[in-house]
Amino acid sequence: MDYLSALINSMTDVLLIVFDSQWAAQSAQGHFVARVAPSFAPGKPAEDIFAPDWQPVITPILHQLARGEAVDTEVTLSGANWSVTARSLHDSHLLIVRALSGQPAAAPALLHQSSMPRHIFDHLDDVVYSINMSDGQVVYINHAVEHIYGVPAEAFYRDPALCLTYIHPEDDERYRAAMQSITYQDGYNLEYRILRADGSVRWLHDRNRVTYAPDGRPLTLNGVITDITHHKQTEAALRASEERYRLISESISDYAYTKVFLPDGSTQVEWITGSFKRITGWTVEELDSIAPGALFHPDERARVVEDVTRVYNGETVDAEYRIITRSGEERWLRILRRPVEEIGFKRYYAFAQDITERKRSELALRESETRYRILSEIMSDYAFLIRITPEGEMVSDWITADAFARITGYSAEDMLALARFNIIHPDDRERAADDVAKVIAGVTVVAEYRIVTRSGETRWIRMYRMPVWSEEEGRFTHYYGVAQDITEQKHAENALRERETLYRLLADNATDTIIRMLPDSTLLYLSPAIETLLGYTSDELIGTQLYDLVHPDDLEAMRDGLLHLSLLPETYTTAGRMRHRSGIDIWTETTNRVLRHPVSDEPFEIQSIIRDVTELKQGEQRAIQLSLEQERMRLLAQFITSVSHDFRTPLSIIHTSAHLARRTDDADRRAYHLDKLVREAHDIERLLENVLTMVRLDSSPQFDFTNVNLNDLLTEIYQKMLPRIEAKQLAAALELESPPLHIYADLTEMHRALYNVIENAILYTPEGRSVAVAAQSRTDSAVIEVRDTGIGINPDDLPRIFDPLYKPPERSTDGAGLGLAITRRIIEAHRGYIEVESTPGRGSIFRLILPTLPAEV
Ligand code: ADP
Repeated sequence: MDYLSALINSMTDVLLIVFDSQWAAQSAQGHFVARVAPSFAPGKPAEDIFAPDWQPVITPILHQLARGEAVDTEVTLSGANWSVTARSLHDSHLLIVRALSGQPAAAPALLHQSSMPRHIFDHLDDVVYSINMSDGQVVYINHAVEHIYGVPAEAFYRDPALCLTYIHPEDDERYRAAMQSITYQDGYNLEYRILRADGSVRWLHDRNRVTYAPDGRPLTLNGVITDITHHKQTEAALRASEERYRLISESISDYAYTKVFLPDGSTQVEWITGSFKRITGWTVEELDSIAPGALFHPDERARVVEDVTRVYNGETVDAEYRIITRSGEERWLRILRRPVEEIGFKRYYAFAQDITERKRSELALRESETRYRILSEIMSDYAFLIRITPEGEMVSDWITADAFARITGYSAEDMLALARFNIIHPDDRERAADDVAKVIAGVTVVAEYRIVTRSGETRWIRMYRMPVWSEEEGRFTHYYGVAQDITEQKHAENALRERETLYRLLADNATDTIIRMLPDSTLLYLSPAIETLLGYTSDELIGTQLYDLVHPDDLEAMRDGLLHLSLLPETYTTAGRMRHRSGIDIWTETTNRVLRHPVSDEPFEIQSIIRDVTELKQGEQRAIQLSLEQERMRLLAQFITSVSHDFRTPLSIIHTSAHLARRTDDADRRAYHLDKLVREAHDIERLLENVLTMVRLDSSPQFDFTNVNLNDLLTEIYQKMLPRIEAKQLAAALELESPPLHIYADLTEMHRALYNVIENAILYTPEGRSVAVAAQSRTDSAVIEVRDTGIGINPDDLPRIFDPLYKPPERSTDGAGLGLAITRRIIEAHRGYIEVESTPGRGSIFRLILPTLPAEV
C-alpha cells in the first residue's frame, strides 16, 4: 500500500478517489477534498476514510452539514493551520481543506490509508500508474488502461515499453523528449495522441511525478492519464463555432462585448466583436487610450454612468444613447447590458445595436407629429377624448382648446366653471344623449347637431365619435371625438335645396328635355318633356341607359363622347337620332354639362338638355338633296354645252359639203363631197351614241350578264378593226389564252368598252408601227392588254383621260373625250379596273382586269 500514499502525495493536482458513493482526495501539499453522501451519518464505518487524528475535526462538521448549515472554519492540527470549507450539496456534502501554513511535506495523512483498498483505483476512468525508476518495470497500472489503449493491464506489466508503440507518429518526438526530461524535471505534464490497434486516435493528458529515496535516488514515477479525446473534439468544435461566430458578429450591424468591473469601480473590456469598429470607427485599443466614456455624446455620459451602476447592482438595463464616432458623426446605439455574477468577479454582457436609421425616422415622425399638432390647432375641427368611469360618468380627458374656443366661443375655463355644461342645442340634446349611449356600447357614431355658441348663435357641427376598448378593463374606457363646424356647409346645402327646387320648376316646364345621368348614361332624372320627345314617361326611363334610346349609327359618336369625358370641355354638344316609342327616328341635339368631383376631377354626372331638331334636320336633308340636284343640272348643262360644240363641227362640215355638192357639175367633185358628208354624219351618229351611252350609264345602267368567252369577243373586235389596221399598215397581233378565259359580262357593253380602247390604240399610233391585243390569265382574273407604239400620253394628262369629255388641250379634233369614260364605267360595273402605262412618243399599254368565271361554267 506504500505506493498509494506516494502516488497521492506526488500529485500537484487533486486526485479524486471514488469509494462507493463517497470519495476523498488529498494532494501533496496536504490540500484535501472530500465528498460524502448525505446518507452518511457520523460515526458510521464510512467515517473511517478520514485519518484518526482528523476524525474529531470532521465529525462535528458533518453534523453541521447534516443540519443544512454551511461551514467556513479554520483548525490547527499537526502543527499546521487549515481552512475548512464545507457545503451541503443536493446529493452530497463537499469538504475543502486547504493548508494555510506549515510544512506541506509534514502534512499529515488526512485520509485513512487502510480505507483505500487498492481496487478503488480500478473504478477510476483515468489510468493510474507507478513505474520503478531503477528497472523501468511497471509496479502498478489500473484496469482503466484497457479501456483507453484497448490492451489489458497485464500486457503493460509484461512489456514496460509497450506504451511507446502506441504513440501517434506526429507526437512521437515530443513524447520521447518528455521522457528524457523526467529525472531532471521530476516528471512531465504532457498532452499527446495515441494510435490504437483498431485505427482510432485518442488524445491523452499524461502527468507524473518522481519520488526519491532519502539518499536522493529516484524511486518511482507515479502518474495519471486522462482520456481527453472528447474534450479535444469539443474544443475543436468550439473553435470552429467561435470562428463562425466571429465572422458573423463582425459582419452583422450589431456588436457585443463583455466588461468586467475592476476593484476601483471602473470597467474594462474583456471581449468585443469586430462590428464595433465598423459602427464606431474606433478600435478597442484606441478607445482605451482616450478618456473613458468618450465614445458617448457629452449629453449622454451621466446617464451611461448611471446605467452602468444599475448593472453593477444586478439590474439588466436596456437603453439608447447617442455616440460620437471616430469621424465625429453622431449615431444612435441601443445597448442591452446584463450582469453576470461569478465567484470573485462581476462582469456584464452587452449587446449593442446601431439604431441610427430608426432614430432618424422616429425624429422625422416626431417632427411630423408636431406639425400635425400645430395643424390640428389651427384647423377648423376640434377633437377631444372622453374617459368613461366604471360608474358610467364621463370625464373630459383632453380637448383641442383653441379650436373648440374658435367654434363655440367657450374657453376651457368656461367649461369647468359652468355647471352642467352642454353646448348642444336643446332640441338636439336627446338625440345626442342616445348617440353617446351607442358609443359607450362600442358603436362608432357620426351625427350632426346644432350647438349654441357662447354668443347665443346656433351653429351646426358634425361629430364623429369612436369608442376605445381597453384590454385590461375589458370594456370601452374612452371615446375619441372630432367635431367639425358645418354651419357654412349647411347654409350652402339649404341654398342648394332652394336652387334645386327652382331647377325642378324650370326643368319640369321646359319644352326641351332636361336629363341627369351617370357617366355610363344611366338615367337619374328626366323632365316631363321626354314624353313629348320620345313617347316614354320619365318613370319608365329612370334607371335605364340613354344609349338604348340612341340610333345604332349614332351611338358610337355619342358613346365616344361619354367615354372621353375627361378630355371634353365642361360643356359640349352631341347630335344624333333617338328612337321614339313608335319606332320613328327623332333627330336630336344635346347640350351636355359634365360635373366633376372637386378633388379627383372624375366625372360623376352629366346634365343634358335634349332638343328635338327633326324638322330642322329634315329641312337640312331637303336642302342637301336640292343642292345635289342643282349640281347635277349644272354638270348636265356643262356636258350639253361641250357636246354641242362637238356636234357643231361635223354639222358645219355637212352643211358645207352639201352646199358644195349641189353647186358642182363635176361628178368626181360631187362624189367627194357626198362621201365626206356621209363620213361626218357617221361621226355624229357615233358621237350621239356615245353621249347617250354616257347618260344611260350615269343615270340608270342596266346590264344583261352572261357567260362571255373572252377569246371570241376579242377576235370579233379584232376582225372589225382589221380594215383600219391594214389602211394604216400597222403590224398587229392578237394573242389569246388557251383554254379560253370566261367572264361574266354584258356582251354589248363589254364589246363597247374593249372596242374603245383598241380603237384608241390604232388611232393614236402612226402608220407603219405596231399594235397588239392580248388576253392573259392572272389569279382569278383576266387581263386584257392593249399595247401600242404610238404617240403616248403626257404624264400630266394621264390621271384625267378617264374623265368624261376630257381631251388633252393640244388635241381638239379627235373624238369627244367620252370613250375612256364610258369604258371605265363599264369595267367598274363588271367589278374590274384599268391600269395604264405610257411613255410619250413610245406608246401606251392599257390593261383591263376583270374577274374570271371558272372555265367549265
Ligand atoms: P377620244 O374619244 O377623244 O379618243 P377618249 O376618252 O377615248 O377620247 O380618250 C381621251 C384622250 O386620251 C384622247 O383624246 C387621247 O388624247 C388620249 N388617248 C387615249 N388613248 C390613247 C392612246 N392609246 N395613245 C395616246 N393617247 C391616247
